[in-house]
Amino acid sequence: MEEKKRIKKPLGVARLLEGKCIFCGARCQSACPKDCVEMTEQGEPIIDITCCIGCKKCVKICPSQAIEMYFTPEQQRLLDEIARHGAPAAEEEAGQEEVINSASDSGYRGVWVFVEQINGEPAAVSWELLGVGRHLSWQLKVDLCAVVIGEKVQHLCSESFAYGADKVYIVDEPVFRFYRTQPYFVALCNLVNKYKPEILLIGATGVGRDLAGALATCLNTGLTADCTGLGVDEKRRLLMQTRPAFGGNIMATIVTEKNWPQMATVRPHTMHIHEKDPSRSGEIIRERQYIAEDDIATKIIEIIERTQEGSVDIAGADFIVSGGRGMQSADNFRILQELADELGGVVACSRCVVDAGWMPAERQVGQTGKTVRPKIYIAAGISGAIQHLVGMQNSDIIIAINRDKHAPIFEVAHYGLVGDLFKIIPSLTRQLKALRANGKT
Ligand SMILES: Cc1cc2nc3c(=O)[nH]c(=O)nc-3n(C[C@H](O)[C@H](O)[C@H](O)COP(=O)(O)OP(=O)(O)OC[C@H]3O[C@@H](n4cnc5c(N)ncnc54)[C@H](O)[C@@H]3O)c2cc1C
Repeated sequence: MEEKKRIKKPLGVARLLEGKCIFCGARCQSACPKDCVEMTEQGEPIIDITCCIGCKKCVKICPSQAIEMYFTPEQQRLLDEIARHGAPAAEEEAGQEEVINSASDSGYRGVWVFVEQINGEPAAVSWELLGVGRHLSWQLKVDLCAVVIGEKVQHLCSESFAYGADKVYIVDEPVFRFYRTQPYFVALCNLVNKYKPEILLIGATGVGRDLAGALATCLNTGLTADCTGLGVDEKRRLLMQTRPAFGGNIMATIVTEKNWPQMATVRPHTMHIHEKDPSRSGEIIRERQYIAEDDIATKIIEIIERTQEGSVDIAGADFIVSGGRGMQSADNFRILQELADELGGVVACSRCVVDAGWMPAERQVGQTGKTVRPKIYIAAGISGAIQHLVGMQNSDIIIAINRDKHAPIFEVAHYGLVGDLFKIIPSLTRQLKALRANGKT
């Protein structure tokens, strides 16, 4: 009996529509899984249809709908033939499936969190990352693992379990007593290459930023820094990494589609710490790293603690009274300090205030300042630009005071007071003082 001829259904190829490219910065090129897109000097794509697999990624990512799919005459001929012979089998579209499912087929599994510590003292951001990591691992149905590197850091295993880890990989050796880029990234790189996690989260601290950059380079993978939100596309096992982009004017969700692990850093105070459960336990995997002290170029000779007189840590404060351009002068911040003193809190500010020289840069909240998560954040005379919001929008309670009822700050505020801050702030301070005098606070 003659075997029925099987024809692969063509998916079409991509082409650029004339005059529609807005030179967005080669998004189509970076989306193409087969490197079929070259860019002209002007920044317009040239699509090589001989290697195009019809995955439509460039079409979907183009912000100006400048790319469309079409069938070449050869493909059109095949389509006509299919119409005559009947539909192709499902596996004949495997070319496209191969691309879409590549994350699932990578062989990389599990969500890892790097537990940062100094002298055995953990950085709280590590527990925040275990909190968000818990959700990601539930969604992906994999283990949440902590990675502890240091000297005399055994106690961080039980802490990691208490904050949600199912497994801890620990490297505990004298050479890791102090953080140094070289031994830490070599050790972490070896662990990743051995155990192959699909996601690796690191705190966006001084240490974390240094380590993450070196590690991503060594592993030849993507790294999204300073994420403000993390989620997963469960079907494609992709980490959805959200962060401000283009000067903070948009929130971009970034994916690392073709390299593993998918790496992200997250600033302290951005994510919520889950309640500690000391009854939890899990598996501890001890790893040895053969890194000799003599092979490390950097030596720690002395550690000098930086203590600046009058310096204030706004990131760790429970109550923050923050002022913006509406404060009008440095002197006027006195009324915010009075309110902060009543609350037992600190004064912070927007970037305009720092630029005007009214407050030091260490008090700035936002994208280029600090991320805060106090119990109460009072924003006085702050309009609520996105670059400010990304630094405070996760506060438990936000109280906004602004004379413009349309100010964007009211969109994130739990309580809004429309009016003149120079009347409202002193009045709040007076009432708090009165309550305190009556023993009611
Ligand atoms: C790359 C980049 C990074 C940035 N990073 C940061 C950052 O980290 N942090 C940050 O804050 N900004 C940042 N900015 C700047 C940001 O875009 C805004 O310009 C800034 O946040 C505005 O500060 P503001 O709200 O104090 O001032 P304005 O936007 O001028 O708002 C002042 C507000 O005060 C109100 N007001 C005036 N008088 C009174 C009164 N008497 N009573 C009540 N309300 C009054 C007004 O109605 C107005 O809403 C960044 C910008 C860029 C481009």
